[in-house]
Amino acid sequence: MRLGSDWPLNHPVNTSLSAIHLSAISKSREKVLGYPVDIIDRQTALSIIESSWHSGRGLNVVTLNAEMVIAAQKDSELDRIIRHSSLIIADGAGVVWALKLSGHNVERLPGIELADATLALASKLGKKVSLIGGKPEILASLLDVVKKRYPGITLGVSHHGYFAEDADEILAEISQSEPDLVLVALGVPRQEFFIDKNRTNYFPKATLIGVGGSFDVWTGNVKRAPELMRKLNLEWLWRLIKEPWRANRMASALPNFAFQVIAEKFLPSLKTR
Ligand code: UDP
Repeated sequence: MRLGSDWPLNHPVNTSLSAIHLSAISKSREKVLGYPVDIIDRQTALSIIESSWHSGRGLNVVTLNAEMVIAAQKDSELDRIIRHSSLIIADGAGVVWALKLSGHNVERLPGIELADATLALASKLGKKVSLIGGKPEILASLLDVVKKRYPGITLGVSHHGYFAEDADEILAEISQSEPDLVLVALGVPRQEFFIDKNRTNYFPKATLIGVGGSFDVWTGNVKRAPELMRKLNLEWLWRLIKEPWRANRMASALPNFAFQVIAEKFLPSLKTR
């Protein structure tokens, strides 16, 4: 088993909520091309997650990037899901750039880092975690990694990501193990559809986060961009170089996104919802 050299990230987990309620945690919700984004740092996001565990009210986290915004403009289901999510974080450099252009001082909060910090918090609090997604061998390796790195976590039932659309039996089994945290790695938008469809029925009290390719990174099978590229918000470029099959998707989405953001800024009459 190879451990991802990028993982864990040694997040300081210093939330100590006894009974902080969601309403007491300050976050502001802004818009990027009409889509909501929470201006929030990692610590506050963790506080919200911890608070939801305290209250037994589940929540879902969407990690928004430019490609997802463009996809949602063409897909009414994804559009609805993003708009109704509990927490929408600025995962992508494009989203951060758009927010800065409209005067909001915001740092990028990569979903992979929030998910990792949430695992650390779950370990500290002795929470139960289920992992859904990834190739079978990746998931098996990840379960070992998580056990080793986060011994405070109890593992609920987990499953790899190659199952039929109608997966009631699998879902029932995972649900019966009563996870507090469910990380779903099926890629965008499949993971968002999966979470939306199954959250209320199967995981009403859990936090669910769509984590894309994080399982591949955490098991050392895919490498994240070097620190400097991350700092320069160039992680998208790294992924493009490493996974050139993304070029088509990115080439159509990113300029479109940038054009719309600029048009909205300088031609405010075009402002989206
Ligand atoms: N995946 C899966 N089931 C599928 C398709 C994909 O579990 O039917 C997994 C895949 O193994 C990978 C992740 O979903 O671990 C998608 O990663 P990617 O980096 O493509 O995510 P995205 O860029 O869409 O966030």
